[in-house]
Amino acid sequence: MQEHRHLLKTRLSNVLRTTSAHISELKGLGVVTVDDFLHYFPRAYRDQSEMCTISEMRVDKVNVVQGVLSKMFSRRTKTGKIMTMATLTDPTGNVNVMWFNQPHIQRMFRNGDELILTGKIKFDRAQITMMSPQYEVVRKKQLHTARLVPVYHERDKISSKWIREKIHPLLKGAQLLEDCMPGEMIEAEGLMSYGQAVRTVHDPKSEEDLQGARRRLAFDELFMLQFAALKRRYEFRKKAKDLGKKIVIDEDVSQRFYKEFGYELTGAQQRVISEISGDLTSPYPMMRLLQGDVGAGKTVVAAFGLVHAINSGFQAALMAPTEILARQHYESISKLLKPFGFNIQFLMGSLPEKQKKSIARQVSTGTVDLVIGTHALIQDGIQFKNLGLAVIDEQHRFGVKQRERLQEQGSPHVLSLSATPIPRTLTLVLYGDQDVSILDELPPGRQKIITRVVPEKKRSDAELWIADHIQKGRQIFVICPLIDESDVIEVKAVTTEFERLSNDVFANFRLGLLHGKLKSQEKEEVMNLFSKGEIDILVSTSVVEVGIDVPNATIMLIEGAERFGLSQLHQFRGRVGRGEYQSYCFLFTDSYGEESRKRLKSLEQNTDGFKLAEIDLAMRGPGEVYGVKQSGIPDLKMASLGDTDLIKRVRNAAADLVMKDPDLEFHQPLKTRLKQLEDQAAIA
Ligand code: ADP
Ligand code: MG
Repeated sequence: MQEHRHLLKTRLSNVLRTTSAHISELKGLGVVTVDDFLHYFPRAYRDQSEMCTISEMRVDKVNVVQGVLSKMFSRRTKTGKIMTMATLTDPTGNVNVMWFNQPHIQRMFRNGDELILTGKIKFDRAQITMMSPQYEVVRKKQLHTARLVPVYHERDKISSKWIREKIHPLLKGAQLLEDCMPGEMIEAEGLMSYGQAVRTVHDPKSEEDLQGARRRLAFDELFMLQFAALKRRYEFRKKAKDLGKKIVIDEDVSQRFYKEFGYELTGAQQRVISEISGDLTSPYPMMRLLQGDVGAGKTVVAAFGLVHAINSGFQAALMAPTEILARQHYESISKLLKPFGFNIQFLMGSLPEKQKKSIARQVSTGTVDLVIGTHALIQDGIQFKNLGLAVIDEQHRFGVKQRERLQEQGSPHVLSLSATPIPRTLTLVLYGDQDVSILDELPPGRQKIITRVVPEKKRSDAELWIADHIQKGRQIFVICPLIDESDVIEVKAVTTEFERLSNDVFANFRLGLLHGKLKSQEKEEVMNLFSKGEIDILVSTSVVEVGIDVPNATIMLIEGAERFGLSQLHQFRGRVGRGEYQSYCFLFTDSYGEESRKRLKSLEQNTDGFKLAEIDLAMRGPGEVYGVKQSGIPDLKMASLGDTDLIKRVRNAAADLVMKDPDLEFHQPLKTRLKQLEDQAAIA
């Protein structure tokens, strides 16, 4: 076996008969060795497993028939195309076959060859013709027809057909793949072996067979993620037992706080506050994620914790991903907590050195009660004397490592806030190391933002209508499309739009421009002008902060809306409707695709971020919805995140193993595999 394993590590250039151009294109796909090739999974399948006879062929389906080729000839048509004609015969009859511009067919086959053809048929003047069918000679094992045909992501030279042909002789290598999962677990779950599963996705015998293979591979993917998260949680709890900073929830303080806040808390806020209170008073440091749609009122919940932490004699911190957000928190929380007389400081990287030093000193001597700031909070030189609670806003913009930097400051309670609504099942997979609270209720009296997908021919009407609103004193956001290729192009596009609007349609108004290439101070300046009402129209790329609050802004106009995920569009929309005026969200799209129109239309009807996330997930898959890179959400090949049952089973199995063998002393192959994935940063 050991020697055989070498086969898996063998470079494809040594085993495939092909050109160096093919090899280098494979390399571009990350496929270098036999092992890599085996893990280049199909993206879909064409079900051509059902064959029929020539007499059974039908116009309304793709027919798969086997027969003998005769009367083959090629000729040039009047328009210069090469047309190849032939007849296919089986015991039930015969059918004409026609291919266009495939001269190689004439060279590949000769009369008398036995072929399987797959394609649609056409009736014409009492003749039945098979139009440009796919073809394959009858051989011991059909690869391209008469089966569940795997379809791969293709490149220039690397077609699915090429892959099927080349991978087939290597599939026996799959049995050499090591199964790193514990045998008992695989048996208990009734799963197929790993090698078998890999082989099967390339060569499924039936739909059922394929489901079994996918289930096994999905199980593994989910397991790695969940085990890593649960292990982190286990380690943390072991280390931190009895380290929890005992925070007292003083009823008088709560009452004063509520009174200061002035609004009645929503039911969801009350529930979450009691969940958090439970954590704060327990011997374990809290590690909790609070998810809630934009505007759900996460800040007041966090502030409740901050007040009690400080009142119990601890320091507290609140970290936000950008200066704009941090400053807004600083301002609103300072105001809310004013009567308590705490020492609250604002910390960001761009402050003068002297001021930063002074704050750092106050942090380390304990004279400051609450620091609100950017990631400057976790830079070297910031050492809290007695940190009791740390709040991380927009936590997905930070990594696990950054959260750990805060935890290292004496194991404070940590509360992470997220406005990215993620379906519950996905939360389990991705944030299995944290407890999760959900704010699923908006404060009362929120207006409904009128949302419309605007057809291009209505653009000038819409613009006039918008101009009228600005005339009346309102402000608007214009979001320009997301451009993947490069920041430079994106900046150029937003600048062009800015100029078009300034010179043409909205020439009489004051416009501001915001994009990722601006220095943070410049961004801040533009945002400030906008929030002070000194800019009427803010033209921005997606960098516009999801947390900012400008009550006078009532229109959100989004260009190229189809390029954004629904969740992100929903977050943009959450920028308006924060004040007393009726607000609107207009979606412009360059796409006439039925699919993307349907997707955008769902924003017209739905106001619930969780619901939208689910729709998006179902329509586009996790990678696209959350942007693998930005969100740190791994690119799952197989896992169906809709399969709640599987996710739960995996979680139980992972939890079980974390309890039994947390360091995987007795599961070395799994340990090695997890280490590999961690090194590739495939699991956070
Ligand atoms: P997010 O969850 O998006 O961070 P915020 O905490 O910024 O939302 O809250 C949005 C707005 O709603 C704030 O102006 C806040 O004062 C207000 N708010 C929060 N909770 C309530 C409530 N229970 N009743 C009325 N207004 C509320
Ligand atoms: Mg917020």
